[in-house]
Amino acid sequence: MEQTLVILKPSCVERCLIGEVISRIQNRGIIICGMKMMQLDEKILREHYSHLVDRPFFPELCASMMVSPVICLVLKGIDVINVFRSMAGATNGRNAAPGTIRGDFSMSGQANLVHASDSPESAKTEIERFFSPNEIFDYTPSYFPLLYANDDLVK
Ligand code: UDP
Ligand code: MG
Repeated sequence: MEQTLVILKPSCVERCLIGEVISRIQNRGIIICGMKMMQLDEKILREHYSHLVDRPFFPELCASMMVSPVICLVLKGIDVINVFRSMAGATNGRNAAPGTIRGDFSMSGQANLVHASDSPESAKTEIERFFSPNEIFDYTPSYFPLLYANDDLVK
């Protein structure tokens, strides 16, 4: 089953929205396989945002990701990468649809509460960047039969 890396950014932690976002994840039926608080530094942010290091907003983005600890999550589910990206909404909170995390809680293009992997390749790299194998618990909760129909599980 697919996994994705989600980061609850300082804009989520500082505004006391950790519980709100985790509720949405659990209410949707997404399984949490890893969860930890981390203080990010410039080294890991340069790797994580390597596609943005040359952009003019990178120094501010980097600073905004270090103002408080973050919560890193490994999430599991069928198509969870796309499912969670659609729950997060458009990058700029002002463009994000109501009902999405950013569309409900962000007015910013930078302070947009969550990071979410955007492809299977980036999910693998990002999970390995933020978690060691013994911090990931690939368990099957007892309510699993309520989450999916047999149809969903046939691939
Ligand atoms: N970002 C920014 N200004 C921009 C574009 C992006 O500050 O013009 C920040 C924003 O916090 C965003 C992050 O850089 O979440 C990563 O950008 P990306 O394009 O990967 O968006 P995402 O995948 O987070 O929607
Ligand atoms: Mg991205």
